[in-house]
Amino acid sequence: MNNFSYTRAQNVIEAVQKVSADADTKFVAGGTNLIDLWKYNLTHFGALVDVNAIEGYHLIEEKSDGGVRLGAFAKNAETAYHPIIENRYPLLSRAILAGASAQIRNMATNGGNLLQRTRCYYFYDSTVPCNKREPGSGCSAIKGYNRIMAIFGTSENCIAVFPSDMCIALAALDAVVNVSGPGGERSLPFADFHRLPGDTPHLDNNLNPDEIITSIDLPEKGFSKNYSYLKLRDRNSYAFALVSVATAFELDGDVIKDARIALGGVAHKPWRVKQAEEFLRDNMASRENFETAAEIIIKDAVAYEYNSFKVELTKRAIVRNCIMALNPETQLPGAQPSA
Ligand SMILES: Cc1cc2nc3c(=O)[nH]c(=O)nc-3n(C[C@H](O)[C@H](O)[C@H](O)COP(=O)(O)OP(=O)(O)OC[C@H]3O[C@@H](n4cnc5c(N)ncnc54)[C@H](O)[C@@H]3O)c2cc1C
Ligand code: SF4
Repeated sequence: MNNFSYTRAQNVIEAVQKVSADADTKFVAGGTNLIDLWKYNLTHFGALVDVNAIEGYHLIEEKSDGGVRLGAFAKNAETAYHPIIENRYPLLSRAILAGASAQIRNMATNGGNLLQRTRCYYFYDSTVPCNKREPGSGCSAIKGYNRIMAIFGTSENCIAVFPSDMCIALAALDAVVNVSGPGGERSLPFADFHRLPGDTPHLDNNLNPDEIITSIDLPEKGFSKNYSYLKLRDRNSYAFALVSVATAFELDGDVIKDARIALGGVAHKPWRVKQAEEFLRDNMASRENFETAAEIIIKDAVAYEYNSFKVELTKRAIVRNCIMALNPETQLPGAQPSA
């Protein structure tokens, strides 16, 4: 049994002070990832600072610039079912509801979702080498059973994927993450929040350990007319994505004025290829053009022994999801909420 102390912070300054004063102190929000990692002996702490009682960061509210702010401590379920999100950012609603289970979404917070760790089997198995768990020890997945691993942006040190669904929609929407730390506040564009493994695979993101996420901003444009989130997985509920695609279009008749395609389950961070989105811009919304965009995206894929199926699966998922985005009410299995 590992003992730890537990306190409830009343405000952000108090929470940051406690965590920055002691490297052995961590924030806890819903606890749905942190406590699992602790039980597996993958994280250690002497003290927990619970952020749930901090007022002012549980809201979903419209901003004066036309965008919307998601409080970091709002629950994933509250966010997905909030009328503003359902009406203005249905892509985000769909992505959140494709993740985990109803019970977990009721506990999990928006801030915690960004910081969940990989589901690589070897990361969880402390008897084998893993550079993410123990830097410099090696990567057991590269020559191991790598079926669920990444095909984009990998390094010789790590081929794990980032498992979130919510973050794939946030990446497509160009969200911004607001954080607070001992040095004050700062904002990170979503594309810069998570990291590729490179030679520092133990670092998942660019948040400093003593910084707290306070909110996530969505720009005004929510793509509420033409969007789709498709999640392909081994079973249709309570499973992480093998491949997921968040697609959003702004259309003028049959012409695409703006296009977003973000992928999950295939990289160490939500994966976007701007060249493919630029190709679609001012082009017709046709299967042929969606296939070309998918080809542009997968040309950089690098597969390993057991995950080469992901290359073709990703290509087909992109095309299928682009077609579904033309008619968002299309109800296919990947568009249904996880039970
Ligand atoms: C069985 C199971 C299935 C799941 N399936 C899916 C799925 O299909 N798709 C999906 O997207 N997710 C899935 N999840 C992951 C789930 O969404 C995350 O566990 C959850 O979002 C984490 O949020 P939390 O509030 O519980 O974070 P916590 O567990 O409380 O914290 C996670 C980490 O973030 C830190 N932290 C928390 N809040 C903040 C903050 N505001 N600022 C700074 N640091 C913070 C904590 O210190 C900790 O390191 C699943 C989880 C489980 C257990
Ligand atoms: S892929 Fe990454 S997380 Fe998995 S064993 Fe290799 S280093 Fe560890």
